[in-house]
Amino acid sequence: MESQKKYQPTFSFEFFPPKTDEAAETLRRTIDKLAQLRPRFFSVTFGAGGSTREKTFDTVVEIQRRTGITAAPHLSCIASTRASIRAILDSYRDRGVKKIVALRGDLPSGTLSAGEFRYANELVAFIRKETGKHFHVEVAAYPEVHPQAANAEADINNFKSKIDAGADGAITQYFYNSDASFNFVAGCEKKGIGVPIVPGIMPITNYSQLSRFSDMCGAEIPRWLRKRLESLGDDRKAIRAFGLDVVTELCRKLLDNGAPGLHFYTMNQADATYAIWKNLNLPPYAG
Ligand code: FAD
Repeated sequence: MESQKKYQPTFSFEFFPPKTDEAAETLRRTIDKLAQLRPRFFSVTFGAGGSTREKTFDTVVEIQRRTGITAAPHLSCIASTRASIRAILDSYRDRGVKKIVALRGDLPSGTLSAGEFRYANELVAFIRKETGKHFHVEVAAYPEVHPQAANAEADINNFKSKIDAGADGAITQYFYNSDASFNFVAGCEKKGIGVPIVPGIMPITNYSQLSRFSDMCGAEIPRWLRKRLESLGDDRKAIRAFGLDVVTELCRKLLDNGAPGLHFYTMNQADATYAIWKNLNLPPYAG
């Protein structure tokens, strides 16, 4: 990961748009607590097919207003038209948003039409064509290989096509095996991919939820970790303490080996991410 050391480290926190008033209140408390750490930016996910379109927009606007820290909307293109994506880009530009996480997304079940975009590289190219250099564009990367990729080599080539289309950087799917990340970054270097690749970090607080997510997105929970978590049963406190140690160690190893920052999947909860940040002794990054 030597070549990654030249990039300024970027630390960021991801949220999803809340569905209920109670969840919105929890998210506000989370934002206020994590804003104290002054990350470089927050990001807000987008339901594929536009299902959270307004809520993603509102959450981004609220974060910027509450904290003054950059908030980056995710934007997925599956099941979308060019006109609908253009309208979303315009609304963000009008609000002064300058950073976007550009994704394909997954086709919601029951959706028949894939829309006018097939892959995320087409979205990146469209953003560049429509808005020039206005947006800083991040894309997704998969150290453990995207579940639908034909093979690891094809997945790196497809990742490269997003960078060639104009993406400025990447955030990875979460993983617990640091070697997967080192190997992936080395593969990217060999292909001449020259952008920061920031590891995505999933704090461990709830084993059954983690296990479900990991099955869905193709992230592997190594056997030793699964076994240790299983042995803790329903002891939430013990799982949190163990998870904190494991994930802090993972982050430390990644940073020591040149990772250009960390992107935390907070699940809209502050405590685990906050504790990892404090363990790592990270300084504030937002200006
Ligand atoms: P792509 O880069 O298009 O890749 C998708 C698959 O197609 C890969 O297997 C790739 O190898 C393959 N592929 C790409 N191009 C080609 C080609 N030309 N020919 C053949 N195969 C090709 N989902 C959401 O719905 N909302 C979110 O907010 C969201 N945020 C995310 C944030 C991060 C950091 C990450 C890592 C994922 C996020 N996701 C989100 C999940 C993501 O949408 C899914 O993983 C989705 O399956 C792939 O999206 P992508 O942008 O990586 O797609």
